[in-house]
Amino acid sequence: MLSYDVVIIGGGPAGLAAAIAARESGCERVLVIERDDRLGGILNQCIHNGFGLHTFKEELTGPEYAARYEDRAHEVGVEFSLGSMVIDVSSDLVVHAVSQERGVYGVQAGAVVLAMGCRERPRGALAIPGYRPAGIYTAGTAQRLVNMEGQMPGREVVILGSGDIGLIMARRMTLEGAHVACVAELMPYSGGLKRNIVQCLDDYGIPLLLSHTVTRIEGRKRVEAVWIAKVDEQRRPIPGTEVRYACDTLMLSVGLLPENELSREAGVALSPVTRGPLVDESLQTSVPGVFACGNVLHVHDLVDYVSQEADAAGRCAAHYALGKRSPDVQEDGPAEAERVLLLEVESGVRYTVPSTIDPARMDERLTVRFRVDNVYRDRFVSVYVGDERIMHRKKRVLAPGEMEEVVLKRADLLERAHAERIVVKLEED
Ligand SMILES: Cc1cc2nc3c(=O)[nH]c(=O)nc-3n(C[C@H](O)[C@H](O)[C@H](O)COP(=O)(O)OP(=O)(O)OC[C@H]3O[C@@H](n4cnc5c(N)ncnc54)[C@H](O)[C@@H]3O)c2cc1C
Repeated sequence: MLSYDVVIIGGGPAGLAAAIAARESGCERVLVIERDDRLGGILNQCIHNGFGLHTFKEELTGPEYAARYEDRAHEVGVEFSLGSMVIDVSSDLVVHAVSQERGVYGVQAGAVVLAMGCRERPRGALAIPGYRPAGIYTAGTAQRLVNMEGQMPGREVVILGSGDIGLIMARRMTLEGAHVACVAELMPYSGGLKRNIVQCLDDYGIPLLLSHTVTRIEGRKRVEAVWIAKVDEQRRPIPGTEVRYACDTLMLSVGLLPENELSREAGVALSPVTRGPLVDESLQTSVPGVFACGNVLHVHDLVDYVSQEADAAGRCAAHYALGKRSPDVQEDGPAEAERVLLLEVESGVRYTVPSTIDPARMDERLTVRFRVDNVYRDRFVSVYVGDERIMHRKKRVLAPGEMEEVVLKRADLLERAHAERIVVKLEED
């Protein structure tokens, strides 16, 4: 059986950044297994710009951003197995994959990093009555058809859901000569970034219908029209508000789901909120030696944050494989008693990543990422360790579509030796 220090599943931006970090942390043999025949993941179809503002301080397209990491991964000597689909990961860190050239093969890993990304919620997950005509696409599939295959999915388009991919496709379809009648959003707020609403809808005069949904799809062979109605506070269509939009295409941008079938089979505990693995301060899952990062862990809006998180996962996986417990714990240094603090959420905060922290093992500073459950204005993001508030920061606007973060200091947690939990919440004052 092949043997590697760190095996990374998925060669998207998360997998690439994790692999580079693992090599740079001293692992000799690092392997990325990718089912596609090229690296870069979903970024290959994101040909618009706006990537890398945080990481490179310049605006890159998705493929350009991915290429920078791909070049660096080759430079530092990461190995790749492309066209290889991972079919199984065991709790003793054996990864099985299948490829045309090798058939089924196994790799013994010193540590595994899960970086399989996410997939889109399909029509089947929505209860829209009607036949199953041609012309209904998830926004990501349409993006791939237009940007990579050179095919136009349709000419008269309605988009359901205002996630970032839907917003970006509204602009792309307009630029390619189609007419986008509207973007309908069930919630009273958009699920996408503010900058995408401005640059992809407002700049092209495309209406965003908040608190609206598609109630009916007309057409047997091909979509001929969709009916859109207003919804009430319980998100139920309001009778009498339906409007018919003649169209040949309905695009769905109704959410992303972390791709966790492999994780579940490996015995990794998943969060019911993010549907990604529950992880500790080193991004290690409930299975020792299995780490997770990127969209398989929780859905990110900016790829820069994916790369930062994956860098940490790759570093921690490397330290695990090399036999060190954490990057900061010196083998001959003072041993701290193990104390795991639970990260809990209250009023307005949906989840945090990570969900537990051992202060003795964390870096000097640790970024905790979270999302809120509604749009809030002029609220304070507060962090309590035990009963003591250690952070209280005012934010003008918080929205579910924008990931938030707080940075915790190890010293703050070590000082409060009796605390058992950390709470992140929103407060009015
Ligand atoms: C359709 C779509 C469009 C997006 N557009 C934007 C955008 O415009 N801007 C933006 O900032 N973000 C965008 N995102 C978010 C984007 O996904 C993240 O920013 C980033 O690409 C996540 O990186 P990742 O490596 O976690 O996942 P991905 O880029 O999805 O990479 C995961 C990789 O894992 C591979 N893989 C999965 N399962 C297996 C397996 N079993 N065996 C082997 N390989 C496997 C996949 O083939 C893929 O290459 C988009 C996401 C989607 C789904």
